[in-house]
Amino acid sequence: MTAQYDAIVIGAGHNGLTAAAYLARAGRKVLVLERRHIIGGAAVTEEIFPGFKYSVCSYVVSLLRPEIIRDLELARHGLEMLPLDGTFTPMPNGDHLWRTDDPAQTFRAIARHSRIDAEAYDKYGRAMVEMGRFAKPLLAMTPPDPFKPRMADVRALRGILKRFRALPDDERYNQLQLLTMSAADFLDQWFETDVLKATMAASGIIGTFLGVRSPGTAYVLLHHYMGDIDGAFRSWGLARGGTGAVSDAIAAAAVTAGATIRVNAAVGKILVKDGRATGVALENGNEFHAPVVLSSVDPRLTFQKMVGEPLLPSDFVDDIRRYKFRGSSGKVNLALDALPDFTALKGPGAHLRGAISISPGMEYMERAYDDAKYGQFSRRPYIDIVIPSLTDASVAPPGKHVMSCFVQYAPYELSEGPAAWDRQGEAFGDAVVNTIAEYAPNLKDIILHRQVLTPLDIERDFGLSEGNIFQGELSLEQLFFLRPAPGWAGYRTPIERLYLCGSAAHPGGGIMGAPGMNAAKRVIADTKVKKR
Ligand SMILES: Cc1cc2nc3c(=O)[nH]c(=O)nc-3n(C[C@H](O)[C@H](O)[C@H](O)COP(=O)(O)OP(=O)(O)OC[C@H]3O[C@@H](n4cnc5c(N)ncnc54)[C@H](O)[C@@H]3O)c2cc1C
Repeated sequence: MTAQYDAIVIGAGHNGLTAAAYLARAGRKVLVLERRHIIGGAAVTEEIFPGFKYSVCSYVVSLLRPEIIRDLELARHGLEMLPLDGTFTPMPNGDHLWRTDDPAQTFRAIARHSRIDAEAYDKYGRAMVEMGRFAKPLLAMTPPDPFKPRMADVRALRGILKRFRALPDDERYNQLQLLTMSAADFLDQWFETDVLKATMAASGIIGTFLGVRSPGTAYVLLHHYMGDIDGAFRSWGLARGGTGAVSDAIAAAAVTAGATIRVNAAVGKILVKDGRATGVALENGNEFHAPVVLSSVDPRLTFQKMVGEPLLPSDFVDDIRRYKFRGSSGKVNLALDALPDFTALKGPGAHLRGAISISPGMEYMERAYDDAKYGQFSRRPYIDIVIPSLTDASVAPPGKHVMSCFVQYAPYELSEGPAAWDRQGEAFGDAVVNTIAEYAPNLKDIILHRQVLTPLDIERDFGLSEGNIFQGELSLEQLFFLRPAPGWAGYRTPIERLYLCGSAAHPGGGIMGAPGMNAAKRVIADTKVKKR
């Protein structure tokens, strides 16, 4: 059969769509095949309960690359970002910590707990922004290969080294600390207030099977400082209409540029002839042919399931088998009849419009991890809550609300095995609601509907192996030139003309679009028709 398309993209998550949009804009005929009935992958909005639109998985946006927003004209295609200001942490003793983007308010809020910390906070923020500035360009680049370096790799490595050497001494030292320390140890050097450190440390553990005291988690603190909403460094925002609106806008850009997107089209196999990708076969047997295939699903699905290990080099197979997923997160989405009323700060104030963090202390956070280490979900978990309906009226009926609760830890590997999640899912949902109700006692009375997503659900429904929210842990040994395997961080794979373009490729997970954009650029460069 002759190829109808120049490229096929497996999966219509936001990265697959981003790759498709860049390829289509470069004049390539692109077909995107999506297993689910709806596009978006983990960046999706669904009306699970009538009138209430849940951002089912991802719920806040920060890392989406500004150049993608510009290049794909996402605002013109319907994307509107709304700011999410502040983090409110209620405490068991009835006190609270509430930080916002207003430096004076935050200074006063922290000074109630510690004057020393209030003074250190601004300095810390500036140091993290500076470190983010060093690391940010790495997100947009194809990682150089230090294992079999070509000239371009050597040049890129030299460039990074040169920028590193140009940093002031203290920043270089900070960078090395971030790479080696735990979030707890790193923050201990700056602050003394337990609730402040615990809430800040939380961003170090998201999507990893690590605790706040595990080495390497300090780096992930930085990952969460590299965001940018409308030019405001580090800030987090909501997409009007839920995170599905990000995927929808990217899809609109792709379709406008000529791409075709098909849903209910599960790819079962990547077709390979003489070591080269030639197309895909759907699970229903239909085949589509193209000289280039990009996969936005994770490496286990791409290589072990769709390509098949016998067609791959054995050292690469070993690396992919070793690649760690270890999902550790769950999600509880609630439809509410009214707003939760927190004992620590009563009433429907602005503190409910930002993030609400159940992270009252370091010991609490580490104990939540202890449960997970021994194959249990956290009885008292870390929970990151947002109530998007307070900022975006389109997601709930008037006077009603949606509440998104991101939860750690929910280990995929329960002590009785992952299948036990089907028996324990509701108990997990209860643990989440009971924990929040300790701080907001009216919660149980105002719940109209509850959606519980266990890591097993995340795997089954969204195709994320072991329920890992980032298509593989964002731990240091799986980042940059090691993602997803040494020697294969440049979007190419051992199968010629098969590329990775999802979160399992550099720079990893989060609604970022960078893997999709970088992979598309790689494909465009590799398949450029040479002028005579
Ligand atoms: C619970 C949860 C909460 C999160 N919270 C946040 C957050 O608040 N902020 C943030 O920035 N990030 C968050 N993330 C991470 C972020 O959502 C993901 O990293 C990102 O959306 C992944 O995008 P992707 O396109 O790389 O992959 P995916 O979104 O995983 O897309 C892959 C697509 O491939 C499809 N697919 C799978 N198998 C097949 C097949 N056989 N054939 C065809 N298609 C197939 C899937 O259905 C999916 O649509 C969260 C993730 C989860 C799961």
